[in-house]
Amino acid sequence: MSEPLFDRVALIGIGLIGSSLALAMKLHGLTSHIAISTRSAETLATAEKLNLGNSYALDAAEAVRGADLVIICTPMGAQGAVAQSIRESLKPGAIVTDVGSVKSTTIRDIAPHIPQGVHLVPGHPIAGTEHSGPEAGFAGLFPGRWTILTPADGTDADATDKVRRLWEGCGANVEIMTPEHHDRVLAVTSHLPHLIAYTIVDTADQLEDETKEEVIKFSASGFRDFTRIAAGDPVMWRDVFLTNRDAVLEILGRFTEDLTAMQRAIRKGDGPMLEQTFARARAVRRSIIDAKQHTPDVKPNGDST
Ligand code: NAP
Repeated sequence: MSEPLFDRVALIGIGLIGSSLALAMKLHGLTSHIAISTRSAETLATAEKLNLGNSYALDAAEAVRGADLVIICTPMGAQGAVAQSIRESLKPGAIVTDVGSVKSTTIRDIAPHIPQGVHLVPGHPIAGTEHSGPEAGFAGLFPGRWTILTPADGTDADATDKVRRLWEGCGANVEIMTPEHHDRVLAVTSHLPHLIAYTIVDTADQLEDETKEEVIKFSASGFRDFTRIAAGDPVMWRDVFLTNRDAVLEILGRFTEDLTAMQRAIRKGDGPMLEQTFARARAVRRSIIDAKQHTPDVKPNGDST
């Protein structure tokens, strides 16, 4: 068996993404030791019961001591405080990375706490489900999915390469881009769709009781898929919109214009316009299938995204 990529990895936060990483790193022999830290004693006990790591600590500073790689897997709103709490305990030469869904704020919140000689390589796995917590994780979350890394100019190339190899070792494909570009792309592919889903589900929820019952009963006609997207963790999604504000507002402006055009087409009975728009959208779906990104992330027990 080949040498593990890292001697000791510290996972700070052990929810869906942290636990999936722990299971994938174990499965593929990517490290000799996984040190786990999380905020609550209850979650830490669950992680230990699930045997996700080799050592467990409520104190994040204790977990990162001696770690070659630290992966921050908390909601984005907590990243700055976590980085501050571990800064004195980071080993010289260590790599710090994260999994947050917005990248410009990782740089803003984590980078000021990274000591000289420690390397920051921010990351974001484009994979997930609507479930949270350590019990939601599964090693098969990452194969065939993309992870985007957004190292700043001048970041140590070996550090970036090691983080790339970690994700590739978990089965993911890796692409490198700037944090600003990442945030714009994700505003379109993830953040806006979630905003629309949350809004549609809430609109239905505000309907009078009789209609609401029928919405549930006949949900298979399209509504059901929106409810899955709108089932993500409210704290995580709150942080996404608070942190990626500018990119989301820009894309939302474009979307609102397009929606108004569709509204006008319906009012005017402009069939060709509707048909052309739907045909273009259908072609997008076909290209996602060709790129093999069309299946939802599914835990082996059948839970799906
Ligand atoms: P999760 O399942 O809700 O787990 C969050 C973890 O962070 C838990 O261990 C929790 O600890 C800890 N935590 C929560 N608030 C904290 C705070 N204020 N201070 C310190 N620790 C705190 O979350 P997740 O879905 O794994 O998401 C984690 C990160 O991955 C987020 O930054 C998110 O943007 C990113 N991400 C998520 C997905 C997805 O689909 N879920 C996909 C890609 C990236 P306790 O349980 O002990 O309180």
